[in-house]
Amino acid sequence: MAQAKLTIDLDALCDNWQSLNALSQSETGAVVKADSYGLGADRVATALAQAGARTFFVAVAEEGAKLRRTLGPGVEICVFSGHMPGDLGLIRDANLVPMINSIDQMLCHVEGLPGHPFGIQLDSGMNRLGMEPAEWSALRDIALAQNPRLVMSHLACADEPDHAMNRQQLAQFTAMTDGIDAPRSLSATGGILLGEDYHFDLTRPGIGLYGGMPFVDARPVVRLDIPVIQTREVLAGETVGYGNSWVAQKPTRVATIASGYADGIHRAMGPQAHVWVGEHRAKILGRISMDLIAVDLTGVDGTPETVELLGLHQGVDTLADWAGTIGYEILTSLGARYDRVYIGG
Ligand SMILES: *Cc1c(COP(=O)(O)O)cnc(C)c1O
Repeated sequence: MAQAKLTIDLDALCDNWQSLNALSQSETGAVVKADSYGLGADRVATALAQAGARTFFVAVAEEGAKLRRTLGPGVEICVFSGHMPGDLGLIRDANLVPMINSIDQMLCHVEGLPGHPFGIQLDSGMNRLGMEPAEWSALRDIALAQNPRLVMSHLACADEPDHAMNRQQLAQFTAMTDGIDAPRSLSATGGILLGEDYHFDLTRPGIGLYGGMPFVDARPVVRLDIPVIQTREVLAGETVGYGNSWVAQKPTRVATIASGYADGIHRAMGPQAHVWVGEHRAKILGRISMDLIAVDLTGVDGTPETVELLGLHQGVDTLADWAGTIGYEILTSLGARYDRVYIGG
């Protein structure tokens, strides 16, 4: 079998949720947008609900409706994109809580679904989603009179603890929400780590649950084992892969493994990338192909059945550094072709 195996450790996931929960006095939600950062919202959200998560966040109403079928009643499912035209049926039937982002969305919501729960998303400086201060001033009293489930905002620079933007957004959010009765939420993973001032009533971790930075104490959640298809001896002066970009300087034992950029293994990782064969670090040779990668097995005894690209030796953030991106993008890129195996939970 040449299908690579992506193992998702639900116990590590739930431990990460518990660890983040222990860092604040607030309720800890769970962000499961984009199919739980690519790891499978059905299994991930079910495990997190069992661990005690009660408030889930998704990006769009369609994700929320699917999640409701998985989790059933009894948990709150909040939608960051709010109430978009055409969402009415989904929001009503799946009992979703749209995070209202503008006066237009507010009108759409109260006209279409009077009395249906909603939350408010405020822009405290990121200029991505949420009501601007002036918009909020105009709407505030009317909105608060209808008891929003949550009033939230999002930090732009929380992964940099010393960034002045954090204090600035905290001050803006506080000014916009001081004295209100509705529960408040400002922090994702990074904000939780900034300390108590940032916690408010509910936190919204995503990446930290899945083992990514900036939560340095996270347990790794994913492991990726890739089968070796064949090996060969390459002589000094021979080349490997597209474009002849790697040239052997000495006799080299080369293995071809069964994954590539179509599986979310970024081609941009290039020459710095490695895989692991037990405790041996084996270099990736030449260009990453769509379905195949060459690795240097020189010095490895015998031929392993598989090599490890993600696991205890290197995680999503190591791969992200090689590819010039972030762990989030590595996770959400992991392809559909893997055999996904869930352990624990
Ligand atoms: C994605 C997202 C989160 C989760 O962020 P992490 O950095 O993954 O913890 C929280 N809130 C909002 C609004 C988001 O878009």
